[in-house]
Amino acid sequence: MQIARTISDLRAARQQMRGQVGVVPTMGALHAGHLALAQAAREENDYVITTIFVNPTQFSPDEDLDAYPRDLEGDLTKLEAAGVDLVFTPTPELMYPAGFQTYVNVEFITRLLEGVHRPTHFRGVTTVVTKLFNLTQPDIAYFGQKDAQQVAVIRRMVKDLNFPLKIAVCPTVREPDGLAMSSRNVYLSASERKAATILIRALETAADAYDEGIRDGETLEQIMRQVVMTEPLGEMDYVSVVDARTLERPHPNSPMLASLAVRFGRARLIDNRLLPAHLNTREGLDSTLGV
Ligand code: AMP
Repeated sequence: MQIARTISDLRAARQQMRGQVGVVPTMGALHAGHLALAQAAREENDYVITTIFVNPTQFSPDEDLDAYPRDLEGDLTKLEAAGVDLVFTPTPELMYPAGFQTYVNVEFITRLLEGVHRPTHFRGVTTVVTKLFNLTQPDIAYFGQKDAQQVAVIRRMVKDLNFPLKIAVCPTVREPDGLAMSSRNVYLSASERKAATILIRALETAADAYDEGIRDGETLEQIMRQVVMTEPLGEMDYVSVVDARTLERPHPNSPMLASLAVRFGRARLIDNRLLPAHLNTREGLDSTLGV
């Protein structure tokens, strides 16, 4: 496995790759969710590139940029075992040198859901993802359902700016009790960790209600809200049920995205499920979310 720390090393390594290239962008502190993306990329491409970069522009000043977990040595061991060919590990100075002033912004859907609570977040994501796409030139780029709105935003950007690549979406990987794996789960105390299953419990209650025939978005949101409110350690940022393609008001006969964000101390956790439940697969996500 090669490691590129500079842009010229990355470009040289990329130029050697003759065949289909899959890219998995990450912020490191890798867990089984990230590795599922790497594994899918390994199965579907001739070459796999993973990027590890804790991107400062997607954190607001009051967020956890400095505290964000970092474990480069451990990450490299895991990626080598996953059969990754090339890892790009740039520094913030390399990605945002003095004088940097160009940003990519997707307008409307970045202001919904997460965008209400993190108004500058997606501009940082789309800017860094654009740079990573330009640098690594993937045929397929792999993203996780865990960040469903991010998938919708990046798919919009890829379409709008004519990036010659495909976005693949892999289902959320969970702990045995249903908590979505996240690098931020390390922030949870033992009691918060137990309480954090409230997110999946709220989503499953909404999925059950959907299965029983409830199709009204506000009713489904109210059902989720009632579950979250039973957990005193969690502070709800939002619960939401929207159309899975547009992230706007849901239609009774179209796939829906149920999602929520709940804070536990300094950990802000997000999770989501597509409704109906059978869409929470690689194929269902690929054909439904944000397209
Ligand atoms: P991050 O390092 O948190 O920026 O995540 C990098 C990629 O891994 C993103 O596309 C995430 O959506 C994806 N990801 C993070 N957690 C999970 C998970 N539990 N299951 C599947 N994908 C995930």
